[in-house]
Amino acid sequence: MRRALARAARAIDGERRARGVAIDARARATTTTRTRTRDDGDGGRARARALATTPSREDDGRRGEIAIDRSGLRRALEGRARAGDAREEGTRGGLLGHLERAMKFAGGSIPVSEYVRECLTHPEYGYYMRDADVFGKKGDFVTSPEISQVFGELIGVWAALQYEALGSPDTLRIVEFGPGRGTLMADLLRGTRKFAKFRDAVSVHLIEVSPALRKTQAKTLRCGELETTAAEGNARFVVPKNVLENETDATGDAGGSSGDAPVGEAHTRGKSEINGAEVFWHDGLESVPRGPTLVICHEFFDALPVRQFQRTERGWCEKLITIDSGLVAEDGEDVSGESSGASRRDLEMVLSPGPTPASHMLVSRRLKGIPKEKADSLRLIELSPPSMTLWDALVDRIEKNSGAVLAIDYGEEGPLGNTLEAIKDHKFVHVLDSPGEADLSAYVDFGALRQIVEEKPQSGVKCYGPVTQQQLLLSLGLVPRLEKLVENASSEAQADELVQGCERLVGDGAGDPESGVAPGMGSRYKAIAMVSRGLPKPVGF
Ligand code: SAH
Repeated sequence: MRRALARAARAIDGERRARGVAIDARARATTTTRTRTRDDGDGGRARARALATTPSREDDGRRGEIAIDRSGLRRALEGRARAGDAREEGTRGGLLGHLERAMKFAGGSIPVSEYVRECLTHPEYGYYMRDADVFGKKGDFVTSPEISQVFGELIGVWAALQYEALGSPDTLRIVEFGPGRGTLMADLLRGTRKFAKFRDAVSVHLIEVSPALRKTQAKTLRCGELETTAAEGNARFVVPKNVLENETDATGDAGGSSGDAPVGEAHTRGKSEINGAEVFWHDGLESVPRGPTLVICHEFFDALPVRQFQRTERGWCEKLITIDSGLVAEDGEDVSGESSGASRRDLEMVLSPGPTPASHMLVSRRLKGIPKEKADSLRLIELSPPSMTLWDALVDRIEKNSGAVLAIDYGEEGPLGNTLEAIKDHKFVHVLDSPGEADLSAYVDFGALRQIVEEKPQSGVKCYGPVTQQQLLLSLGLVPRLEKLVENASSEAQADELVQGCERLVGDGAGDPESGVAPGMGSRYKAIAMVSRGLPKPVGF
């Protein structure tokens, strides 16, 4: 045990020295260590090995510009439609067939965001909607809560401190977006259960699109029997509604209920044996009942769709996805970041012939306040409208109900270029390969989120960060917590595992795929927070 403790001390010393080390986005883009890493252990808790690869990314938009001739596309699609149903041909079934139809009715192409949304959350073919576990042994990546129990415990400390800052109210809604396997929430509830006032106030509200993951979450939270209630009008809950489809009415105003149950929708509920809290599953924020609210989003925003815009002589055009237009072959280059000679794929990235309403609105909004020289140098901008809509709804929510929001993810201050990436079977693949079978994610533009709060000074909501995950976790007491766990470890091996997990959470190392050393997450992951009017700056920021 002494050896492990000595290691812990060394590691932590290293982390302290490493504090404040900034990363260079461009270096990261070329040397990469992927943020999501594969899990080769058992049950997702075992240490994961780094996935290192050379990403195929276009990061400065300096490639050739291609305008699409929509009429030609439409002709191509019509021709194929005449040739017979894609499914019958045995070529374009599943998600590809669905995308093809969507493109056909959208005039030949769809924005990148629509592609990402369908790939991740299409009710039948979406990556997150499969029964297969995307995390853990057979999954594609491992996340911080799956690496170490300390992560969820420290988020619990953060939540408890915010609860006190709120004046220890009698009820507290803890909302988590995209809880994955439910591990973070389980560790949070376990870590805080001795804090009686907090425990008695808490109800848990999980916003999750995947029916399979909802089941896993119920199991992780030890909810036992679940109860599914009819909504108003007697509709029964069948499939969760996608929060993205509701984005415009996510006002965060949850009607008049004062109880814990969701407002106005069919819902599933259970009771966690971990701390006795009631647990509810929701389709979106709007059904979470009123009252002081803490919101946690861990690796959620990176899973929300992005749009991409490219500067051209015609102004900011939008990258679109089309099917088999033949344009790539003709021009010999594409806009997707890979040479067209590489491999033949059904889908292609093209540019809109001119600026689109989205490029007009979103790009100019994002560039507001950016120094002119910097703005002029940008060739490519990636933005996530659903992330911004949700952040805006969260501002409203805590403005009206009081509370705080904590989001942790990989990302940068922004504005960002092309950061969209895909992982399938532990390897990076092209984002247009294997739709629905690869995990798609993009870096979070933290600056775009903060801008939303700054544009609403009347809300009284204050936004802090981004700070590094390293700074947040060390401020929340990672070191003493780890020391305690190591002291109580039942074996040297367990102590080692605890130390290595924490090293990984706050470390900065690039990792070594050869020897199986995972890259550190301490700087690449960042945290951003918001608190409602009058609350002090949250710990860690
Ligand atoms: N927070 C977890 C899981 C991150 S993966 C962890 O850190 O381990 C992203 C999670 O968000 C998954 O649970 C996924 O099913 C969910 N998700 C993705 N898109 C969603 C959407 N549009 N609405 C609700 N949940 C979504």
